[in-house]
Amino acid sequence: MKVTILAHTPEPEKTVAAAARLCYSKISATQIMENFSQEKATSFIKKLMDMGHMSPMEHVSFTFAIDGVSRTLLAQITRHRIASYSVQSLRYNNPFDEEISLEVSDDDSTSENVSYLEGLLLATKLSGQKVNVNPSLIEKNHIKGQTPENIIDLHKPSYIRGIFDGAGMLSESPDNPGFSIAFPLELESILRDTHFNIISSDTKLLIKNESALNFVRYIYGNLDFAVSLYSEDKLLGFCNKNAQLNEEILSIMQNFIDQKYYAMAPESISKSTKALLTYIKGLDACKKHYIDLIRAGIDQEDARYILPLGTQTRLVMTMNVRSLYNFFNLRCCERAQTEIRQLANLMLAEVKKIAPSLFEKAGAPCEKLGYCPEGDFGCGKYPPSK
Ligand SMILES: Cc1cc2nc3c(=O)[nH]c(=O)nc-3n(C[C@H](O)[C@H](O)[C@H](O)COP(=O)(O)OP(=O)(O)OC[C@H]3O[C@@H](n4cnc5c(N)ncnc54)[C@H](O)[C@@H]3O)c2cc1C
Repeated sequence: MKVTILAHTPEPEKTVAAAARLCYSKISATQIMENFSQEKATSFIKKLMDMGHMSPMEHVSFTFAIDGVSRTLLAQITRHRIASYSVQSLRYNNPFDEEISLEVSDDDSTSENVSYLEGLLLATKLSGQKVNVNPSLIEKNHIKGQTPENIIDLHKPSYIRGIFDGAGMLSESPDNPGFSIAFPLELESILRDTHFNIISSDTKLLIKNESALNFVRYIYGNLDFAVSLYSEDKLLGFCNKNAQLNEEILSIMQNFIDQKYYAMAPESISKSTKALLTYIKGLDACKKHYIDLIRAGIDQEDARYILPLGTQTRLVMTMNVRSLYNFFNLRCCERAQTEIRQLANLMLAEVKKIAPSLFEKAGAPCEKLGYCPEGDFGCGKYPPSK
């Protein structure tokens, strides 16, 4: 999410103060404006706020460019009627038009998955472990269990991921604190050919600490979470074990969602690898069917019905200061939904840079009241009454 102020009324604080001063003055607003110092304007605005004389705030407006928000947010923000909006249209913009016109084939992902299966089969064969993928995949692709030198560099991360899913495990033992990855000794010959720092113990091969983190980044960094082959259990196992790694995987997944689906995930889903994997499955199904409808000749304006509410959009919004007060009052509150609350807080921070005295009292109502007007529904930050 990104917020930029594109334009605003010049001299916003003096404009509001001059408009208000006019009500009590015999001279024109032009003369008032000419003689108003910034200090005088600031102290006059404070008086207005204390009196609740809000209509002069309507003479100043701010225009925001808002990028990378969901269509769920769009539905919420446009309920604020005292504002003007221009929104990126899914009628004229197809988020996947490049992919559709390129007629991307599945060959690349298929051959990467073949490399994964090669690694997996070799690892299970050497270690004597059970193969944990559908046997028909191995048969269909004529997997032989090739050694690393036969795998092209581009597919090496998939191949090594196959080796890990086939015979690797997370290792934590009293004599080996921290985070490490263990392989059976039988895999020594193939792992020695990789660039990882492999340490041999009596019973296993280990990749430890920072090297183990690098290993995980290597095998999951460019993963297509919808198309690539990988063990979900092993990925989740990593994330549950190590907080730093969990953060990295979450950020890789969010980036993937942004790039592949032109979508964003809400905060509660973004915090959980398991929830994000489910979310990706939904996004992938919507995208596939959207592309199928476009290829079948359906217009974008109708095909878009199948796109999810998490699809991103961009908008330009103009609001006057009085309406912004109402917006911040409702949407900076902890009770507001997370994404629109984050947006409101970013917008408030931006307008405060330009007109600090005008927005001094803007924000969630509790901040200026010292108690929560939501009563028992409050978030607990402030007591429910005075
Ligand atoms: C936490 C939260 C939960 C919400 N849940 C729901 C929900 O479940 N369902 C739902 O439909 N909406 C919901 N809303 C949206 C909410 O009802 C408002 O539509 C939205 O916040 C816009 O506020 P507003 O009307 O004050 O803003 P604006 O439309 O910008 O109006 C600003 C002010 O102008 C005045 N005004 C504007 N139009 C009129 C009018 N026609 N008549 C009289 N006065 C007017 C009012 O004083 C209003 O406060 C929710 C909002 C929040 C913050």
